[in-house]
Amino acid sequence: MSLNEFALIRQYFSTLGEGPGVVLAVGDDCALMEVPAGQQLAVTVDTLVAGVHFPLDATPGDIACRALRVNLSDLAAMGAEPRWFTLALTLPEADADWLAAFSTALAAEARTFRCALVGGDTTAGPLTISIQMMGLVLAGAALRRDGAQAGDGVYVTGTLGEGAAALQLFAPDCGLPAEVCRRLAGRFYRPVPRLAEGLQLRGLASAAIDISDGLLADLGHIAECSGLGAEVRLPLLPLAPWLRAVSSAEQLQAWALSGGDDYELCFTVPAQRRQAVDAMIAAGDLAATCIGRMTPAPGVYCLDDDGNLLAIAGTGYQHF
Ligand code: ADP
Ligand code: MG
Repeated sequence: MSLNEFALIRQYFSTLGEGPGVVLAVGDDCALMEVPAGQQLAVTVDTLVAGVHFPLDATPGDIACRALRVNLSDLAAMGAEPRWFTLALTLPEADADWLAAFSTALAAEARTFRCALVGGDTTAGPLTISIQMMGLVLAGAALRRDGAQAGDGVYVTGTLGEGAAALQLFAPDCGLPAEVCRRLAGRFYRPVPRLAEGLQLRGLASAAIDISDGLLADLGHIAECSGLGAEVRLPLLPLAPWLRAVSSAEQLQAWALSGGDDYELCFTVPAQRRQAVDAMIAAGDLAATCIGRMTPAPGVYCLDDDGNLLAIAGTGYQHF
């Protein structure tokens, strides 16, 4: 089959553009959106390259989900609410089956997370998906990386390590039980962007980041941007029990600290607001764990059961 560029855009990407604030979506030189008074636009972009960020045999639906969700995770980390996105798609060929599956999954995800596809770009080349996500945040209320103070508690949402463990699935000889593979694939292709948590934490957290490169690396960003250091108490790390059954304690800890791809939030809370946050956690309103604290001295350090400092090699994924 052959589809020209404009027919392709019309058929697969022109009907996902309805939503609040959309004045003009796909079809003109630019999209137009209305930013309400008192709100700020939060913008982020992430690119997924086939064979680098996902395996070459990933399904179009899985690729669409991951591409959208990793971007939503960035909005979550700012305490922003998703509204609109653009899609830059580079395709080796205009394959109708691939495009239908991709756009169907993208439409379902866009509905789930209430964001509209307002524009994009379509080119020929090695399969690459760039999504630029836009959201709204109350003016001045965004959760930034630079707001932590010495003594603030360090927290993470959910559990850590599964994102990195999922990469084992793509190793030639993964050897994990089928049920574990299924869960890990879900965690890889459908990470849950912590949007509700990001909103809950506005006015409570002093800084936040989403964990894409590994806890130590990403907490390191908060520390550096805030001119501080941090201490992580290893026995407090939240690890998925089901993963303990299939990996050694050391392996799981390494995944949790340095593996990345978890898309949980790491955030800091000042002493005077910790009671409020801990009460939300205790009441089951916020799935998060306190794992350490911010320190005046720079550097991110880990402490063992007895409070001894540990040296940890490798602090995250770097592209170059
Ligand atoms: P221009 O050359 O003016 O940039 P294009 O021919 O690239 O316009 O795109 C035509 C219209 O289709 C634009 O409104 C653009 O935003 C939209 N568009 C192109 N590719 C995509 C895509 N993959 N998803 C959504 N909208 C797209
Ligand atoms: Mg263009």
